[in-house]
Amino acid sequence: MPLVVQKFGGTSVANIERISRVAQRVAKTYDQGNDVIVILSAMSGVTDGLIELAHKAAEEPDKRELDALLATGEQTTAALLAIMLKSMGYQAQSLLGHQAEVVTDSDYGNARILEIGAKRLKHLIDRKNIVVVAGFQGYDIKGNITTLGRGGSDTSAVAIAAAVNADVCEIFTDVDGVYTADPNVCPKARKLKTITYDEMLNMASLGAKVLQIRSVGFAKKYNIPVHVRSSFNEEEGTMVVNEDSGMEQLLVSGVTHDKKQARVTLIKVPDQPGIAANIFSPISEAGILVDMIIQNTRKGGKTDMTFTVPKGDFKRTMEITKKVALQIGAEEVLGDTDIAMVSVVGVGMKNHSGVASVMFNTLARENINILMIGTSEIRISCVIEEKYTELAVRVLHTAFGLDAEE
Ligand code: ASP
Ligand code: MG
Repeated sequence: MPLVVQKFGGTSVANIERISRVAQRVAKTYDQGNDVIVILSAMSGVTDGLIELAHKAAEEPDKRELDALLATGEQTTAALLAIMLKSMGYQAQSLLGHQAEVVTDSDYGNARILEIGAKRLKHLIDRKNIVVVAGFQGYDIKGNITTLGRGGSDTSAVAIAAAVNADVCEIFTDVDGVYTADPNVCPKARKLKTITYDEMLNMASLGAKVLQIRSVGFAKKYNIPVHVRSSFNEEEGTMVVNEDSGMEQLLVSGVTHDKKQARVTLIKVPDQPGIAANIFSPISEAGILVDMIIQNTRKGGKTDMTFTVPKGDFKRTMEITKKVALQIGAEEVLGDTDIAMVSVVGVGMKNHSGVASVMFNTLARENINILMIGTSEIRISCVIEEKYTELAVRVLHTAFGLDAEE
C-alpha cells in the first residue's frame, strides 16, 4: 500500500475551518487506499506571537525554554486535526516530536535532525491509523525539546518521509508550486512541472519561498520525491526529484534574483601569498558569509579584491575590512549596497556550452553592465546595478525560452 506523507503549512491550518478542510483532504487520501502520515505547522502567526510573548517575559529569553514554548504551536494543530479525524470516524493519533522519536542536536532554535526512530509511528501505521505529527520539533539526547529553525516543519516532513521510506512527501502550501521566476517581477513566469533537488538548492530566493532549504538537502540525500502543491485546490504542483527521473530537460529552469547582497572592494592590495587569508579570516570569524569573490591583478604587484556579503552584514564587514586594509597596506575600501545578483539555474547547462554567452549578450543588449560574474556547474550569476533587476530577470526569462504561452 502506498505510504504518503502530507505536510500542511501555517496558512493551511490557520483556523478551525481550514483545519477541517485539511481533515477532508487527508481522509480522502486515506480512503483512496493510502497509508497517511500528516505533518503540521502551527497556525499562521502563532510562532511569531509566541516569540513576542517570550520577549515580553524576558529581554533575552532562555533558549531551552523558548523552544519548549514554540513547540506548543504545532502541538495545538496536531491535536486539533487528530480530534477532527477521530470525530469523523477515522482511527487517528497525534504524536509530538519526541513521540515520533525525532532526535536532534542541542542547538536550540536551529536544531539539526540526527535520526528518527519512528517505531511507534510505524506501529500505528501498520494498524491503519492516520498519524498526525507535530512538525518543527524534536528532542535532544538529554530529552530536551528542540525546534528546527523557522519553516522547519518542511524538514520534519521530509525527514519523517525518509525514515518511514514513504513513496512521496507532499508539501501543501499557499503557493501552487515552484516558478521559473518570481511572478511579481516577471509576469510571464510559469509553474514548473518538475525541478531537481540541485536546482532547488541553487535557486535560494525562489526555492526558499516554498520550502525550507534544509529540507531539500534531506530529500536529495534520501531521494524522496517532494510534491509542492497548493492546499487550496486539487491541481498538480511541482515535483522536486533527482536528475535521472526522466524529467523534461530544460537548458535553464529558472531565473532568480537576490537584492540582499552588498559589495565590498579593496583597492590596490599588495599581491602576496596569504593576502586572501588575511582578508577573509576575520570576516568568517565574525560569522559573515561571503558569497562571490573576484580578484583583479594590476600592474606593479597590486591587486583589487571584490566580494559580496549579505546586506545585513555590510556595516560590520566594512568595519572589519577597513581595519584589515590598514594592516596589509591596501589603498582604499569601497562599498556598495545598490547591487543585485541575477542567476540562471539549470542542470541542462552541464551538457551545453553557450549558456553564459547567451546570458551576457542578453544583458548587453539592454545596456546592463555586469559588475561581477560567478559560475557553478548548474548556475551562472551576474552582479548588476540593483535598478536593473526586474528588467534583467524579464529579458533573461525570454532569452532562455521560459515565458508562459499566452
Ligand atoms: N511554525 C514554525 C514557523 O513558523 C515552523 C513552520 O511553520 O514550518 O517557523
Ligand atoms: Mg513554511
